[in-house]
Amino acid sequence: MVARLIDGKALAAQLRAGVAEDAARFRERHHRAAGLHVVLVGEDPASVIYTRNKEKAAAKVGIAGQLHRLPEDVSEAALLEQVGALNADDAVDGLLVQLPLPDHIDPNRVVDAISPSKDVDGFHPMNTGLLSTGRPGLVACTPRGIMHLIAQTGLDLKGARAVIVGRSNIVGKPMAQLLLAQHATVTLCHSRTRDLPAVCRDADLLVVAVGQAQMVKGDWIKPGAVVIDVGTNRLEGRKLVGDVDTESAKEHAGWITPVPGGVGPMTITCLLENTLIAARRRLADLD
Ligand code: NAP
Repeated sequence: MVARLIDGKALAAQLRAGVAEDAARFRERHHRAAGLHVVLVGEDPASVIYTRNKEKAAAKVGIAGQLHRLPEDVSEAALLEQVGALNADDAVDGLLVQLPLPDHIDPNRVVDAISPSKDVDGFHPMNTGLLSTGRPGLVACTPRGIMHLIAQTGLDLKGARAVIVGRSNIVGKPMAQLLLAQHATVTLCHSRTRDLPAVCRDADLLVVAVGQAQMVKGDWIKPGAVVIDVGTNRLEGRKLVGDVDTESAKEHAGWITPVPGGVGPMTITCLLENTLIAARRRLADLD
């Protein structure tokens, strides 16, 4: 079997066109663009790139993206003050503070300070709680993007065996909740899981988010399974690879996401979608 690729880049482009239409309608109704505000502390090179990409992607769909840069040695109190000011600003619909933060700042305190109605990363405990109780809130972007990718394959999640490797708060845990809500039977694995290859071999859907280059091999995959590779790892020589050994996995899987061009483009797309959802909910502008 040779797996079909799930083209995240093409799907992201298609969804962004829809977001641009929604953003234009919002501008027409409210005489201003929806606003996505990103706070970046320090100069971490990866974070600088991520935040610039978010600002650019917002501009392309007609969302007003604004980056607020604070120095590496900013105090936690000053950062919380900035978050408070953006919470109170009516032109700010979506707000996120780029993680990781310098060691002297407690990320939980910062995430907790963001207004849940503007929390477009979906990390606030109010939003994670709403997700786990099956109520509407703002949902983390990467798992939301993955649900769009799974839909492309036509896999019926009802009763399907879904295995997620990685239990982070930003990917694994919200992913489990979203799949559970679609009636999949979900197993959430981590570094202490016994005989991980055997658990993976049972999966109709395998989502891998561990941050270990090419860890999941082809013979861990049930023939015909849908494989979502969340990992982004740079090999020496700068090549970007996922957490799945794509070449051997393609021989077993039915569908697989490439790295790059799979999950990555969907994450920012869902951030844009979340910004419009937040904007419209705050203004009770729902069709
Ligand atoms: P994380 O917070 O570092 O968590 C990694 C998870 O993997 C943990 O639950 C850990 O288990 C588990 N793990 C690590 N080694 C393992 C092993 N050998 N066997 C089984 N489980 C293992 O990771 P994350 O933030 O979710 O990110 C994971 C990867 O996805 C990274 O490569 C990241 O760059 C990528 N990512 C990509 C996007 C995107 O948009 N493309 C978005 C988010 C993340 P324990 O809990 O037991 O330690």
